[in-house]
Amino acid sequence: MKNFFNRKSLSVAAVVAAAALALSGCGGGTDSPGGGSSDAAAGPAFEVAKDVALTGSPTFDKIKSSGAIRIGVKEDQPGLGYLDAATGERTGFDIEIATWMAASLGIAKDKIQFKAIPSANRESALANGDVDLYVGTYSITDKRKKLVDFAGPYFITGQGLLVKKDNADIKSEKDLTGKNVCSATGSTPIQNIKENFPGVKTTEFDIYSKCVDALIAGTVDAVTTDQAILLGFASQQPDKIKVVGEPFTVEKYGIGLPLGDTALQTFLNKTLTDGGATWTKIYDDTLGKSGTKVEQPAVEK
Ligand code: GLU
Repeated sequence: MKNFFNRKSLSVAAVVAAAALALSGCGGGTDSPGGGSSDAAAGPAFEVAKDVALTGSPTFDKIKSSGAIRIGVKEDQPGLGYLDAATGERTGFDIEIATWMAASLGIAKDKIQFKAIPSANRESALANGDVDLYVGTYSITDKRKKLVDFAGPYFITGQGLLVKKDNADIKSEKDLTGKNVCSATGSTPIQNIKENFPGVKTTEFDIYSKCVDALIAGTVDAVTTDQAILLGFASQQPDKIKVVGEPFTVEKYGIGLPLGDTALQTFLNKTLTDGGATWTKIYDDTLGKSGTKVEQPAVEK
């Protein structure tokens, strides 16, 4: 039951994890999330498409007539989706992917309305029409595919563990029995712990930064979610927290879109597939600051 991952996929995740691990080590004095400099925080500029040919997409029709796009994101995940409360600036790999997708649909950055939506509310936000797209560490799963569609994947990582810097007894997921592990409600990692790790206590919050606060306060023993996310947190407070072990699932990040909008899904998949150089630029400007190279994953269809 526990042995649900396969070796081949794990090695992909391990490479990504290694990249992110290196990121955690490059924080040297910077106060900007994910190890990026404040220059890089502005991110690459994307060419905004003109005369976009996309028919049969109800979501795109709405975007086109309003001239704006609403994109659900995370805003407490350094290096991926982060809002600097002081400057109002959003940074991270997911924010840049979102901005790129908007540009390919003919929408410039100043016409993107980012909305912070926690893990548990993603499917309903897309189904209710609260957002047009969702770009925020959103794993493609068969269960979610019944409620939303995905373009991608555009990134691959895996579930990992974050503990206090001085913790010596949790070295991997095998050491969790009897421990209290924190994750976000509605996420794949909390579901995995509940289903496959009997004897592990769980604590849930809506967002991961609350788990990190609980870890530092000592009310939980570990935080679990995707290693890419955990490494971003660790890079912010390397004197207090650390990532341990290897990724023990495979999480493929997709761009969430309203169920049944196949025309939009096909369009965004083409943007991803044709835009290899753009993907690499985004990666290099964000997570890739670690210096470790990873390949863009192939889209599923
Ligand atoms: N990628 C996992 C998920 O989609 C964990 C990260 C998150 O909650 O956004 O559930």
